[in-house]
Amino acid sequence: MKKTNWAGNFNFTPQVIETVGAEEQIAQAIQRARRENLPLRVYGSGHSFYPLVATPGVSMSLAGLQGVIAIDHEQREGWIWGGTQIRTLGSQLHALGYGMENLGDIDVQSIAGAVSTGTHGTGIQFGSLSTQMVGLEFWNGRGEKVEVTSKKNSHLLDAARVSLGLLGVITKVQLRLQQKFVLEMTQTKEALSSLIPSLAKNLQNERNFEFFWFPHTDTALVKRSRTSTEAPLAATFGQKFNDIVLENGALGLLSGLCRWVPPVTQKVSQFCALAAGETYRRDWSHRVFATDRWVKFLEMEYAVPIEHFPAVVSEVQAEIHRGNYRVHFPIECRFVKKDSIWLSPAYGRDSALIAVHMYRGMPYRDYFAAMERVFRKYDGRPHWGKLHSLKAAELRELYPKWDAFQTLRAEMDPDSIFLTERMKQIFGESRSPVLSQKGA
Ligand SMILES: Cc1cc2nc3c(=O)[nH]c(=O)nc-3n(C[C@H](O)[C@H](O)[C@H](O)COP(=O)(O)OP(=O)(O)OC[C@H]3O[C@@H](n4cnc5c(N)ncnc54)[C@H](O)[C@@H]3O)c2cc1C
Repeated sequence: MKKTNWAGNFNFTPQVIETVGAEEQIAQAIQRARRENLPLRVYGSGHSFYPLVATPGVSMSLAGLQGVIAIDHEQREGWIWGGTQIRTLGSQLHALGYGMENLGDIDVQSIAGAVSTGTHGTGIQFGSLSTQMVGLEFWNGRGEKVEVTSKKNSHLLDAARVSLGLLGVITKVQLRLQQKFVLEMTQTKEALSSLIPSLAKNLQNERNFEFFWFPHTDTALVKRSRTSTEAPLAATFGQKFNDIVLENGALGLLSGLCRWVPPVTQKVSQFCALAAGETYRRDWSHRVFATDRWVKFLEMEYAVPIEHFPAVVSEVQAEIHRGNYRVHFPIECRFVKKDSIWLSPAYGRDSALIAVHMYRGMPYRDYFAAMERVFRKYDGRPHWGKLHSLKAAELRELYPKWDAFQTLRAEMDPDSIFLTERMKQIFGESRSPVLSQKGA
């Protein structure tokens, strides 16, 4: 059976589809993959744009292992099944009185899939979701269970928190939790030219700060979130209608127009900047972080050292102008605290994450390649789950702990059952470019 990802930019036909309902199945599937020399990749919810999950061998899903397993109320930590969808996690934790300190834009990924690529939200006092993980259990390529906690194998934690499924199949994650809290989020329109000089102040004053800049304009939609002691305001029917039908629906229609009549694209970006609305929400945090994304697109995102952010934005603007790229999707700018996770794009440096998007079916390669040149000039590291063209040798230059990770990978997976030919492009020596796959 053919499988694809959310964006539909790649597909693959695995020989075996393994849907795990109990942990014992995992060891058996790993032993079979070793015996039959079948590369095994775990499919979380398929929300990565990069074909990390593609395999001609065994495609394993942990969607049957869902939910909170146990909470240590004293330590404020919880064990969660790896296959748990973040939305389910949010509501189960909420019912138990807890929340997570920060989340990304959407809540439909699996928790193990999200941490495995270093999925992040925004707020310079917070690291990625992987930094909220304080322990895990996984089954390595030998078919052995490995427990990593503060008391056991703690030296493996920083290697395993972002590991792209290369060390093993993660069955359980242990998360640091917060008491549940209300967030109030304002969305305002501001000039990009005034946002850049006031960046430090915004980062310091706001719990969560990000903005979406509309190309071909000086307008940005700015989101700021703070904790609130007031009661949550349930989203009204009007707000839901606005979020789902107007925002997604109108964006879908306008995107269709751009694909059909490409010369109108820049005008559409200017129209979106004019039409974008200012909003206010106050609700439990897990509901405020998440948005619905119905319109399909492709995405590239790079983490650059935060001090280079103004220069990168200025070069991105100049490059879009010079290349006259037909792009109407806003450029998303977020900020994340540095961490000590070996393969984290924010390893050792406070980072600005800059994401460029293109509506599915519109040409994206030249635009993404031009943006990537700018990001790379400033030592950018790509988001593992999004499109990029880097190969192992280039990635190795960006990650001080690269060789240490490779050594551990070989130890945990001596037969390389988690390494497909595709994965060898980024963790081996192969050279074929990933941006030249099926797509626009
Ligand atoms: C619409 C959209 C919005 C997004 N928003 C954000 C955002 O706000 N912030 C951000 O940082 N990213 C964002 N992303 C990227 C997304 O969060 C990551 O690509 C994430 O890894 C997807 O999770 P998944 O469960 O779909 O994992 P998949 O894409 O299925 O897999 C990702 C990786 O994790 C591995 N994996 C999955 N489960 C396991 C397991 N149990 N054990 C071992 N390895 C496993 C897979 O093999 C693969 O290597 C977004 C993507 C989309 C499509």
